[in-house]
Formats: sequence, C-alpha cells, structure tokens
Amino acid sequence: MAAGVIITPVLLSPLPRFRSPLSTVVEANDGTLLGARIADDGQWRFPAINKVPDKFEKSLLTFEDRYFYLHPGINPVSIVRAIKGNIKAGKIVSGGSTITMQVARISKGNRPRTYGEKIIEILSALKLELFRSKKTILEMYSANAPFGGNTVGLEAAAWRYTGKSSSDLTWAEAAALAILPNSPALVFPGRNQEILKSRRDNLLRKLHEKKYIDSITLVLALDEPVPGEPKILPSKAPHLTDHFYINNGGKVVRTTIDPVLQERATEIINTHQKDLAANYIFNSACIIIEVETGNVLAYVGNSTIKEAREHGGDVDIIRSLRSTGSILKPFLYAGMQQSGDILPNTLIADIPTRFPGFSPKNFDQTYSGAVTAGNALSQSLNIPAVKMLQKYNPEKLLDLLHKTGFTTFNKPADYYGLSLILGGGETSLWDLTGAYASLSRVLNRYLKEKKYYKDDYHPPVLVLQEGASRERSEDHDPPLSASAIWLTYEALQKVNRPESETGWQYFSSSPNLAWKTGTSFGFRDGWAVGTTPKYVIGVWTGNANGEGRPGLTGIMAAAPILFDLVSLTGQGPWFNTPYEDITMIRVCAKSGCRAGTDCPETIEIPACINGLRSEACPYHQVIHLNKTGTFRVTSDCAPPSEIINVPWFVLPPAMEYFYRQKHPEYKALPPVSPGCPVSKSIPVMEFIYPTADVKIFIPRDQTGVLTRIIPEVAHRNPSKKIFWHLDETYIGTTRYIHQIEMLAKAGNHVLTAVDEDGNTIRCGFTVIAPQPPKGGLSTVRKLGL
Ligand SMILES: [Zn+2]
Repeated sequence: MAAGVIITPVLLSPLPRFRSPLSTVVEANDGTLLGARIADDGQWRFPAINKVPDKFEKSLLTFEDRYFYLHPGINPVSIVRAIKGNIKAGKIVSGGSTITMQVARISKGNRPRTYGEKIIEILSALKLELFRSKKTILEMYSANAPFGGNTVGLEAAAWRYTGKSSSDLTWAEAAALAILPNSPALVFPGRNQEILKSRRDNLLRKLHEKKYIDSITLVLALDEPVPGEPKILPSKAPHLTDHFYINNGGKVVRTTIDPVLQERATEIINTHQKDLAANYIFNSACIIIEVETGNVLAYVGNSTIKEAREHGGDVDIIRSLRSTGSILKPFLYAGMQQSGDILPNTLIADIPTRFPGFSPKNFDQTYSGAVTAGNALSQSLNIPAVKMLQKYNPEKLLDLLHKTGFTTFNKPADYYGLSLILGGGETSLWDLTGAYASLSRVLNRYLKEKKYYKDDYHPPVLVLQEGASRERSEDHDPPLSASAIWLTYEALQKVNRPESETGWQYFSSSPNLAWKTGTSFGFRDGWAVGTTPKYVIGVWTGNANGEGRPGLTGIMAAAPILFDLVSLTGQGPWFNTPYEDITMIRVCAKSGCRAGTDCPETIEIPACINGLRSEACPYHQVIHLNKTGTFRVTSDCAPPSEIINVPWFVLPPAMEYFYRQKHPEYKALPPVSPGCPVSKSIPVMEFIYPTADVKIFIPRDQTGVLTRIIPEVAHRNPSKKIFWHLDETYIGTTRYIHQIEMLAKAGNHVLTAVDEDGNTIRCGFTVIAPQPPKGGLSTVRKLGL
C-alpha cells in the first residue's frame, strides 16, 4: 500500500524525452568532423554520441553528482540541504539536482523553477532510473545539456570550444566543459574567464584528490588556458555537408571521405582556381574514388576561394548536369571493340562530313583523311567519333551508357542522334566517375577471378559501410568484357594530344594512367577524368552559370588539376593484361583491319573475340602494272608476261585527298597506261560535298538572297580538269582545287562531275530553302536583319 503511494505517481509522471531538432554532422572516415549545419531551431545541437568519454564523465560526476551510480535518481541528502538553503534565502537558489533530475528538467525546456516543477522533476527522474540504464541517462545528459549561447550537448561544445571531438579532450578541457552546464549563462567562455578558470582548477584538484589524475597531469592541466570564444566549426567539405543536410538532415553521417586527401584536393582545386579566375573561369570541382569499394575519398563540390564564392561557388558541381563534350568517346570505343565493329587500330575516315542540321568539326578544324580508331580516341577527333557512332548506332551506345551506370540520359536515342558522342547529352561528374570506377572494378575483378559480377557496376559510395559485403551475382552477359575495357584503357594511356596541341607535352609523363579530357560546345565545360587500377579521379572546370570562355578546354583547364591529383594518390602499377579474354587477331599492318588476302604485311594484335567478325581490310587491292611499275595496264593492252601484280594500298578518293597531305609516304596509284581501257574498279573521283541524298538547308543572306552552296570533289589526280553540270546544265570547270560555287533552287537536283578522261560521278541531293520574307526585301533592310 505504502509502496503504491510512491510508485503510482512515478509511473504516471512523464518519461523525459528529447525531440528538439538536431544539427547535421558530417564526419570523415576516421570520425573527424568535416562539417556541420546548425539545427532548424538555430541551436548547435549534435546528435547523441554513443559513448560519453571517460574524462568528461569523471569530471562531470565529480563536479555535479558524486553518487550518480549509487542513487535511484534523487539524492535525499542534497535535496534536504537544498531545501534548507532555499528557505534561508527566501527563494530557490540551489536545486540539489542529480544528473538524472537535470535530464528531466532539460527535457521540459526552460520552465521557471517552482516547487511544483521540482516535484514533477523528482518523479520523472525516478521513472527515468526505472526504465533507463545509468549509461543511457549519462548519454542523454551529455547530448542535451546547455553549454552556453546556442551550443547544446557535449559534442557540439567540444568542437565549438576546443576545435576537436569530445573523445580527444584533455583533462583540462573535459573539466572546463563539465562546469559549463551548471551555469551556462554565468560561465560563458570568452567572458568571465576568471570564474571559469578558478572553478575548473578546483575541479582538477578534486580529480587529483580522487586519484583520477596524477600530480604531473594536474600541473600541466592547471597550466592550460580555459576555452575562449566559440570557434568556427570545420568546413572541409561544404558541398557534401549541404548534400547530407538536404538529404539526411539532423543526423551524424560517417562518410567515406579521407580527411587528408580531402584537404589536399581542396588546396589543389583552390590553387588552380586562382589562375583560372584570371580568365574569368570561376568554378571547378573534383572527386576521387577508390576503385575497389567505390568509396569517395575526396569530394570538392566547388572551389572555396573568394572569386569562386562570388560566382556561384555554392553550386555543387559534382551533382550538376553539364554537357559531356568528348568525355563519352571511350565508352563508344569500348562498345565497338566488344561488338567487333572495329579493331583497336582500324582506320576510320576523317573527312568533311555533314548530317542534317549537324556538321561536326575536329577541334583544330583540319582533316587527316584517315586515322586509327585508337589515335582518334587519344586525340579526341570528332569526325571519326561521329563516323564510328554512325556505324555502331546511337541507340546501342545509349543502352551501353545506361548499363555502365549513367542515369542522366533519359531521352530516346533520336533525341540525341549522332551528337550524343560530341556532347549532345548532359551528365554529372558523379555519374561519369562512377561509371569509370565500375569499369576499372570489373577489369580488376576479372583479372583476379576470371568472372564478371553484376554488382560491380554501382554508383560511388559516400556513407561508410564497414564490414558490409555486396551481394555477388555472376554476370553472364557483361555490358563490356575485360578485354574491351583493357583495350580502351590502353588507347587512353597513350600519349594524349587531345583537342589542342598546346601543352600536351607536359602530360606525357604519366604512363600508368588512362585519361580523357572533354570540352563542351562553346567552351562551357572543361572535363578531365583518369583511372589507375586503384583510383578514379574526375575534374570539372567552368562557370556555374554556364558562361563559356576561350581557353576553357579540358586539356588546358581541367587536365593540369587532374595530374596534380594523380600525383597526390600515386600511380602504382598498371592493369595486367586479361589474357584469358583476349584473342590474337592477324591484322593488316597498314589499315589495322582484319588481314585480307591482298594485305602484304600483317601483324598479330590483342583484341576482343568478336573482332574475328570485323570487316577484312578493304584498302589493299592487287593492281596490274607494266614491267617498270610506272603505269597501270590490263591484259587488253600488255602481254601477260610483262604484267606484274602488286598489292596496293588505295584509299577512297576523298580520304586519299586529305590523307596524302599529312602522309608524304602515301603512294598514289600509278596512272593508267595511255591507250589502255580505263579500269572502273577503282574510282578516281568522289564527292566530298554534297554526299548522296543529303538534304541541304540553304539560308538567305542579309539581303534576303539565297546563299550559294559550294560542292567539292576529290580527284586522285587533282591536275585533271573536272566539268560540272547541275541538272544537265554546264556550270563550270575546275582544276587542282575542285570546288565550285553554285545556286540551287528548292527541290531535287542531280550534280554531275566529269573529268577529262570521261570518268563520271553523280550525286542526287535536295535543297530546302526558306520562302522570301513577306513585305519584300525593304522590310528586311528596315529591320536590319
Ligand atoms: Zn590491308
């Protein structure tokens, strides 16, 4: 009965709980603080930590509640003492509170101290002791005690007053912090330093009396200054902290970030940013990913220097969608190796090429006629890339990009068309580096286990998952084989000379890195991404507002940052060769295509198994020459005994026209012997422009007149005259440079070119011309169009 009188009110009293909003706390992989965001009520209140550090616990209990582990939540002796003191003073000056009672009080907010409140506090404290362990009560106290100003809880206080985690506090710091909750308004670091120091020193002496600290520790601790003004919390990864504040606010997040790498990567970004800012390029970002785990080791969402902060520096570029420029070309190359569409060094046409509404240009505006697929990749040539995609098919590339981890290409393939390979789509540094890390992981895994796993394709990992192992489900139809990835990395590892010749020599000393740069249309985005077997590093430079700048290229702006980051992580050994997945294929030494019967010189090269199905060399043809090798002959004009048969490397006329300008060793076909019937098997002329069935949109010039079009023909022997006819009407003759200006009305046309030997080529095309503007030309002039 008597017990019921006490227990019933205890059970009916509220169990203290804390529901206040919490700060967002983002930690590095070793637990150090990367950054934090204030709680929604304007308090620095960190989420509870699991273990109250020993130094703080001893200091706190010595100062506040010596019998904490012995009493049931209240300490009758001190309550009686407090009541006596209060009666004497005529008001409440002392609470006689235990830690448990303080937890009960704090949980109810700042209510006025009355005897009624005090009784509820006592009942709640008793209930708390019934339902919670001493350890939990101590944790509740540490997490929610006021530490002056808007600082709540030990962890926030430790970072704000000492600049370190509560687990790293010295005895002097732990003692000073243990004092603060008792009278946070009176003893506020930065003010009342004298009182704080004398109370702390008293506490330290008590700790020594209780033999928690020895006399040397005491002397050293007494010598330490007391904490001063609150410090600014670390902000080592502000964009990452924002990310978690938005997506996982009010929690402590232990990230995968390596605090040292993060700091160094930020320094590198900021150092380069100073130079870039001189050219009005105000933003840059980088990310470093560990291949094996996918763990993000450094996340610099933007530069933090003043110039960047004033120009969109708060934008997290790593998550922003930007035009890809050339940065996807390696995926096309890998896909085409896998499918067997090309071999590593197959010749690809590099000649002027136009598509409806789209005429790609190489960065340096020149054409090499033909270039190996590998060089086209490492030099980042645009026209060969478009030719390759035309052969491979944009839909297949889109599918490959989805399977390798890109989430941003959401439109159907015809939306992007062939421009997909030149930056017609947008992606983020996050997806891009995630995909590269997956590829490197797949290759590493294959080298180790000779198997593929679906789970090796995954996005970068930001939250530390210690001991977590991924599900392993074998992939019997991998999007890219080990050999396709390895061949692509081999091509990307070669000395790069991408996009612009200037400066590339500086980067030739990185043998164990596969890397690629990208520049978007209008010089808006400079990308660089590189992978070693251990790390993937991605860099973006540009302006957050999308403004383009001359000189804003992947090679000039982003690659130097990439190389500084590479030296930070170290390069280590290169990927081993995945021999089990490699097929040796005999190829033509000249064309890189699978060797044909007429190829005079062949070599064996490593390739993907589907390469066996690739097209045989179409360029070597056996031609018939006279004895001296000076003229082409046929059996109609020379005795068979005087004919010699020679395999000859013959490019189509348009490719030849540009190829021979850069390849003086290219031997043109010897002329046909006078009087011999002309061989039709090898074309002598080819239209460079227009090409068959092309639709030409002809704009009007400023005066409203249709602009002219300039057809061009490549002739193996440019000194031959060409006679031009449009729809059977003669329009002119050319020699050496076979270009002719002409006007063509809207509709279908046939253009005919005949050379002086009677060789004839025809090309049908369609002109689409806009109607003249209404109101005649005068209106156009008035409008100043
Ligand atoms: Zn050949």
